[in-house]
Amino acid sequence: MQHGGHRRPFATAIASALAIGLVACGGSGAGSTSAADNVAGLPITHFSSGLKPNAPTPDLVVHNVSDDESDRVATAAIADVQDYWNERLPVDFGIKFEPVTKLLSYESSGANQQNGCGDTKRNVNAFYCSRDDSVSWDRGVLLPQMLQQFGQLSVVTVLAHEFGHAVQYRLKDKAGIANNTPTIVKEQQADCFAGAYFRWVVEGKSTYFNVSTSDGLNAALSSLFLVRDSAGTSATDNQAHGTAFDRIFAFQLGFEKSPKDCAALDLNNIQPRLTERPLDRKDRNKGDLPINEQAISYLQKSLDEAFSKAGVQAPQIVDQGGTCQGGPDTPPASYCPDTNRVSIDLAALAKLGKPVDQEAEFSGEETGGHGDFAALSEVASRYALGIQKGVGAKVDNANAGLRTACLVGAWAAAINKTQGNDLRLSAGDLDEAISDLLRPDGLVAADVNGKRADAGFTRVEAMRIGYLQGSSPCSSQYP
Ligand SMILES: [Zn+2]
Repeated sequence: MQHGGHRRPFATAIASALAIGLVACGGSGAGSTSAADNVAGLPITHFSSGLKPNAPTPDLVVHNVSDDESDRVATAAIADVQDYWNERLPVDFGIKFEPVTKLLSYESSGANQQNGCGDTKRNVNAFYCSRDDSVSWDRGVLLPQMLQQFGQLSVVTVLAHEFGHAVQYRLKDKAGIANNTPTIVKEQQADCFAGAYFRWVVEGKSTYFNVSTSDGLNAALSSLFLVRDSAGTSATDNQAHGTAFDRIFAFQLGFEKSPKDCAALDLNNIQPRLTERPLDRKDRNKGDLPINEQAISYLQKSLDEAFSKAGVQAPQIVDQGGTCQGGPDTPPASYCPDTNRVSIDLAALAKLGKPVDQEAEFSGEETGGHGDFAALSEVASRYALGIQKGVGAKVDNANAGLRTACLVGAWAAAINKTQGNDLRLSAGDLDEAISDLLRPDGLVAADVNGKRADAGFTRVEAMRIGYLQGSSPCSSQYP
């Protein structure tokens, strides 16, 4: 988040970008379907996700394999992903599936191993190597770390992505892949292929894994979040994999559509929506704004301008402990319908808004905070509830939470487009909102009582829709 430092001349631009038409919404009566009830048309399910208790032992040769959990899950993941592509390559692309030539398990901190791309020593990674058509993974550091943080599905997510690269090399021009294809295109396709595979698992077609649409898919998305590029990476960097926003977009595309849609991704169609960009020269503190009274006053102004066309009394943000007298009680920020105020606990928000230590996050340690935009978007979400109440919408059901996330996305896009605004997005900000959406206690997609749609997939999608399409779908998609 950045403070522009001078008066912004584009208030009208923001206002029209956010001319929200919520008057017609909130009428969803009993029996009507809710966007919160499903994930891309599939029911919300709750069961433990991971290797099936009765999963067979895969008939695969893995070099240097051990019998630890990392290798068991990784080997089953490869076998499963191969089953998937064995089914899909002939149907979608008219080509016969060929398994990869070599599988290698290694310990980045242990004895050397070799594949066609060289030595594995100190390579904390999982990767496809086209030179010898191999998939390799580090069972010493990377996989155990991911297992510990997000469980078995994180390993499946990583390997489904890596296998996506093997698929690319099988599709070649059918996926538009040539020697000079930018890395980000290959990475977007691989995330998309992983999403397509996950849908197949969620639909119950996998021999090896169970994935629920609630916690199961949340684990897959959280793993993609964890392996996002650090804030400020350029999308043209030859190592660029994308922001969490970009990576989850591609995964969701594959989940909602098909491998053909993944293969059709190219630089022209991804560039307009990619959010990865270097830090601006003017960004101080790597784009991190301390959350203090001044930041909150910029936020109030930015929200007032953004939602001015709604034609309702603007909620006032006040530092009153983060709860409302007589409820609701969703600290560190609560929307109080009785007074039309957003009550915040500034000290708690300042803590929440501290910069993310991505290295600590990766190893599962205390990360400091979740970033300035996580804190500001929580407050913005409570403000957006006030606007919704003002236009007569219901603010106490799961659709209200999703509509709120959608409006926060629309607001984020509006301040992103505006030059010289008091607040503007800096690199990494959107990912801070995504971290809030994926956390079990985040507020961005919560209704007035703090209740949220069960599926992180749906919560992230709601913010994305607002960010990419503006506020009008917020009421039509989440009635
Ligand atoms: Zn990749």
